[in-house]
Amino acid sequence: MSDFDIAIVGAGIAGATLAAGIGDRARVLLLEAEDQPGYHATGRSAAFWSETYGGPAIQPLTTASGPALSAGGFLEPLGSLHIGGADDAALAEAMLAEFEGTGVALAQVDPAEWIPGLRAGWTIGVHEPSCAYIDVGACHGDALARARRAGAVLRTRAALRSAERGGAGWRLTTAAGVFSADILVDAAGAWADPVAAMAGVTPLGIRAFRRTMVQLRTEPAPPADLPHIAGLRGDFYFKPEAGGRLWLSPHDEIESEAIDVAPEEMDVAVAIDRFEHVVDWRVAAVERRWAGLRSFAPDRLPVYGFDGAVPGFFWFAGQGGFGIQTAPAAADLAARLILGDAPGAVDPARYAPARFRANLC
Ligand SMILES: Cc1cc2nc3c(=O)[nH]c(=O)nc-3n(C[C@H](O)[C@H](O)[C@H](O)COP(=O)(O)OP(=O)(O)OC[C@H]3O[C@@H](n4cnc5c(N)ncnc54)[C@H](O)[C@@H]3O)c2cc1C
Repeated sequence: MSDFDIAIVGAGIAGATLAAGIGDRARVLLLEAEDQPGYHATGRSAAFWSETYGGPAIQPLTTASGPALSAGGFLEPLGSLHIGGADDAALAEAMLAEFEGTGVALAQVDPAEWIPGLRAGWTIGVHEPSCAYIDVGACHGDALARARRAGAVLRTRAALRSAERGGAGWRLTTAAGVFSADILVDAAGAWADPVAAMAGVTPLGIRAFRRTMVQLRTEPAPPADLPHIAGLRGDFYFKPEAGGRLWLSPHDEIESEAIDVAPEEMDVAVAIDRFEHVVDWRVAAVERRWAGLRSFAPDRLPVYGFDGAVPGFFWFAGQGGFGIQTAPAAADLAARLILGDAPGAVDPARYAPARFRANLC
């Protein structure tokens, strides 16, 4: 008999939320390479929940996650305003059309009425009132605590080094010792493909991309009721933070190896330049800068499901730029597939790994 029914590799938001969901129904081991869970993408996010972010194929996961995040007290009203110039009217129309009938409320507004100090030319605005702040630390901490209470075992400094399939289960060699488990779940974020390769599973082509964030002080400080402001062209976003600060991203997407990424000065400069083209506020200080990896499957949808070619290997990866805001629904979907329960609120078919390989079921 194996030590565990299910071993999950990666204790970021994905692995932790899944462990919380199945810990009371199976013997779960959560393996984390770092000293602390949340060191990689989960700890570096921009911390917002937006139903339009990631497009219409991600929206069902985001919308279905809203009630759980709200019930946990992890969401706080923010709103989002997607802005552009006269040339971007078609982008605004396309956005409205894409989300028509989804239940996501969107309305065209004049951005000058929402953003003090807005420079000339920003005449197009699409308001998304449901967008919210997410308290990522509290949400991730809560998932880890629920996993522990449910009986899951978390091992940090426990990088998976090899996974061998023998009989009905896996022999897992890690930096913290050897374990056995019947099912291996790959929730390793940017490392999902290398972890699959360790287990003899053909990688799916999940690639990692660096994204930069900057914390600014500006004069004037952003008004506390400023919504999240995003360029319709997908070239910047910023939002107000506690203490009159502002978080800004150039919306960069630079392919990277799966490593502990750091921000590049050029990307910070691009972020500030784009910001200064939007408002006439002075950048008084760059207080912090950081970067993290967002990892995507080739079609930019997440991958949730058993591999099909290698028994007992479950993909829970490709969480892209939406892994926090979709975490509750994604974990519910994965738990149902792993435990053999009936499907829940979100249809798992479009996220199945089978879409990449004819030989998978
Ligand atoms: C700058 C930035 C802004 C973002 N903003 C948002 C946002 O506003 N809203 C949103 O919803 N999402 C956002 N995201 C995306 C979100 O952060 C990710 O989708 C999410 O954190 C992915 O979670 P994860 O658990 O899959 O990956 P991770 O948090 O990276 O966790 C994977 C874990 O696996 C571990 N691991 C890897 N290999 C091994 C191994 N061999 N053995 C053991 N452990 C291993 C790693 O150490 C890591 O802790 C943002 C991302 C970035 C970078």
